[in-house]
Order: sequence, then C-alpha cells, then structure tokens
Amino acid sequence: MTRTSNISFEFFPPGPGAPEERFWQTAERLNALGPDFCSVTYGAGGTTKDRTYEIVTGLQERGIDAAAHLTLVGASRAEVDAVAKRLGDAGIKRLVALRGDMPNMAGGFEPHPEGYASSVELIERLSETGGFDISVGAYPEVHPSSESLDADVAYLKRKLDAGADRAITQYFFDAEVFLRFRDKARAAGIDKPIVAGVLPVTNFAKLKEFSAKCGAHVPDWLEERFAGLDDDPETRSLVAAHTAADLCQKLMAEGVEDFHFYTLNRANLSYAVCHLLGIRSPLEEAA
Ligand SMILES: Cc1cc2nc3c(=O)[nH]c(=O)nc-3n(C[C@H](O)[C@H](O)[C@H](O)COP(=O)(O)OP(=O)(O)OC[C@H]3O[C@@H](n4cnc5c(N)ncnc54)[C@H](O)[C@@H]3O)c2cc1C
Repeated sequence: MTRTSNISFEFFPPGPGAPEERFWQTAERLNALGPDFCSVTYGAGGTTKDRTYEIVTGLQERGIDAAAHLTLVGASRAEVDAVAKRLGDAGIKRLVALRGDMPNMAGGFEPHPEGYASSVELIERLSETGGFDISVGAYPEVHPSSESLDADVAYLKRKLDAGADRAITQYFFDAEVFLRFRDKARAAGIDKPIVAGVLPVTNFAKLKEFSAKCGAHVPDWLEERFAGLDDDPETRSLVAAHTAADLCQKLMAEGVEDFHFYTLNRANLSYAVCHLLGIRSPLEEAA
C-alpha cells in the first residue's frame, strides 16, 4: 500500500517525576509509524531549554528523526544563537522556530532588549546559519495578537519567505477552518506545505481552559460529544480517536496530506487515529 499522508508527532519534555522509560516507549511506538519527524516543545519562556535538548538528542540517539522547538521570548540573541548552535552541533537538523509567549500569556509581546524582535528575524538568522529544516506556527483561527485572518496570512508569508520550510497549524476542530485558511494562504502566494495540527482530545476541561488563551475555538458539537464523560476515560478515548480521525478524513478528502499530531505524550490515541487513517508501519506497508 502506498502512503499518501505525511505525519509528525509532537511531545513535551517529561517533567521531573514522570517516568522517562514510559516516554521513550511512547516515542518508539509512534516512531514505528514512520513519521517525518518527532518534535519536542520548548517550555514557555524557554523554561525547558536543557530538558528539551536532552529529550531531542535522546530521540536522535534512538534513531528517531527529531525536531527541537525554539522560542525567542525572554532571551538575548546570543542566548538563542547558542541554543541553536548546541542543537546543530549535536546533529539536530530540524527546528520549529517560534516567537513564544510572555510569561503572563495575556500580556502583549515585548522583545528582550538584546533579543530578536520577531519570529521573522529569528527565522532569517537560522536560515543564514544554514543546514536547518525550519517549521513555523500558523493560526487558522487567527492568533490572539493578530488584527485579522488576512494579517495573519500575510505574516505567515513573511515567515516562510524568510526561509522557513513549512507551517504547522494550531489545532482546530472544524475541517472548514483549516480549508479556508489553506485557500487564503494559497491565494496569498504561499506554496510551502501547511501541515494540519491535530489534537486528539483527552481532557475536555483542560482543553477549554487552554483554548481560551490561545485563540482556538471549541465548537459546541465537540462539547456535546464529551458531555457526561468526565469520569469515563475509556469512552473518552474512543470518542477522541473517532473525532480526530473523522477530522483528518475530511481534510484528506480535500487533498490535505500533511498532519502533525499533538500527542500530549500519549501513544495510544495518536496511534489509533493513524491506524484509522490507514497509516501503518513502513515495514507493514512494504509487505
Ligand atoms: C506548531 C506550534 C508549536 C508551538 N510550540 C511551542 C513551544 O514549543 N513553546 C512555546 O512556548 N510555545 C509554542 N507554541 C505557541 C507559540 O509560541 C505562541 O502561539 C506564540 O504566541 C506565537 O508564536 P509564533 O512564532 O507562532 O508567533 P508569530 O507568528 O511571530 O506571531 C503571532 C502572530 O502575531 C502577529 N504578529 C507578530 N509579530 C508581528 C509583526 N511584527 N507584524 C505584524 N504582525 C505580527 C502575526 O499575525 C502572527 O501570526 C507553538 C505554536 C504552534 C502553532
């Protein structure tokens, strides 16, 4: 069977006390599906700088093609450059380059006095350095600090023109939201891949809280689907897998080929969604 979808998986560095062995098992299970890469987030304001490095290099050592997220907020240019150099020296060739959020997410972005002024500047610098494959963030439902969808698309174009290779979107739940954004991006002259960010929902209450901060809309139909399941994690997982696979299938029917899964460090849900989409390990596909 020939695969028509490209997938990637996102993890966060397991915190102190979280069993690391379980993390590696999660990563290895999902890596068996042959993703283009597995990425590791950079804690808000750079709080997991060293931990991100440890995990991303640990993935690479296990033969997993790894991408490190990197934000510029709260750091000087020299500090950010040093992080990128250390990653490059360790053989990490993929970055997800982001502006990041101020510690108080409600406040507007203020650059560090000696820092990069914007994600565009950071991307320019990283592409001058050469050798990195660079992904950037995109916001189909408009980033909270953007004036409009048009302004957001225009800014995304600047990031891609500065040297980024692809955009990965914030999660969303209605296929139309992504398709409208993709069409606007194409009309604005963006021809690089726009990867659909997919979040298989595990905890609905937390989802609502986080979505309010990052500008993602949680539709009523999704709330209804999860109503009454707060104390029933098993049914929630089944509903979550179906919901995410259904979204991906709608997008695939419209020609979307690239999917990035926000795994929340759980293997089963993202694995099940991929399975429902017909994605198997490359070994099985070759058989
Ligand atoms: C795939 C993905 C991964 C992420 N990973 C992490 C992570 O690991 N760690 C973390 O802390 N956060 C992460 N985030 C969250 C991200 O840091 C926040 O969403 C942040 O607020 C924006 O970062 P950005 O680089 O996408 O912003 P930018 O694209 O630089 O800015 C966001 C929006 O603001 C507007 N804007 C900004 N600057 C200008 C300007 N100069 N002129 C005009 N408009 C402007 C644009 O409309 C733009 O779309 C991630 C987000 C995504 C989508």
